[in-house]
Amino acid sequence: MARVETMESARVIDRLLGDEPGPTLIIVGGMHGNEPAGVDEARSVLGALRAFETPIRGEVVAFAGNVRALAANTRYLSRDLNRMWTAEKVAAARATKEPQAEIAETVELDDALNAVIARARGQVYALDLHTTSAAGVPFSVIGASDARREFARHFHIPGLVGLEEALEGVLTSYLATKGCVTMAVEGGQHKSPDAAESLAAVITVALAVVGIADAADLPELADAEAHLTRARGDLPQLIAVLTRYAVEPELGFRMEPGFANIQRTTSGTLLAKDGSGDIRAPFDGLVLLPLYQAQGNDGFFYGRALRD
Ligand SMILES: [Zn+2]
Repeated sequence: MARVETMESARVIDRLLGDEPGPTLIIVGGMHGNEPAGVDEARSVLGALRAFETPIRGEVVAFAGNVRALAANTRYLSRDLNRMWTAEKVAAARATKEPQAEIAETVELDDALNAVIARARGQVYALDLHTTSAAGVPFSVIGASDARREFARHFHIPGLVGLEEALEGVLTSYLATKGCVTMAVEGGQHKSPDAAESLAAVITVALAVVGIADAADLPELADAEAHLTRARGDLPQLIAVLTRYAVEPELGFRMEPGFANIQRTTSGTLLAKDGSGDIRAPFDGLVLLPLYQAQGNDGFFYGRALRD
């Protein structure tokens, strides 16, 4: 058997430790290997803190999520690393002899995260940064807890509540069980300058929100907030995801063309068609994450504004 490579030097994108105690901010980019924007923007924003000797308290550390898949420029090698994060799956990964690919990634990233949490000198926050194949408005995926909603509120982009619970094994749920205040962000289309700017803006805002840096010491903060506010446009700040339309492959699901990733619609609007007939908006609300790719079994989600 091939020897398992350890890739811990590639895991840590950057790390800055304040002299004073304070909160910890963990940033994970590239949980999917075809989404390097989070890695690049974390390196850039933390590099600027270093270059300008920005005073910080606590700790900010950025990790590459799926190091092996990033190196191969592919979403994953054998399985989706962002579905591995349940206590049972992590334990199973740890029990695997000669772990390969995402099994090894799970163990190595879990070790790195546990070490950060163990040495934290205050509340731990975590951002998991993603991009998508289709163009779209940046948004956050947040859990149901009040602390997580309160954290997400500061980022101006739409926050989807109720989606994370439909996705088993995502990192943000797992870290929440360890006491972290977490948020996943979809910044926009892979490799688009706008997605990169949105992810950089989210990191900058997070540094101020959690209190690692003072707003006065972050010259990019005003532009970051303006960028995220502009990106949201007139979409709601908080959206409850209420229903998922599951695709039955044999029914030939076809989304009607032209829907954005988050779009207000009125009751009765034709959203999609399949072998069972027309699929219409059930009430005045929002159509979310419409399926325009060939593969997938989430046709779309449907929700309602909780806060405009
Ligand atoms: Zn992703």
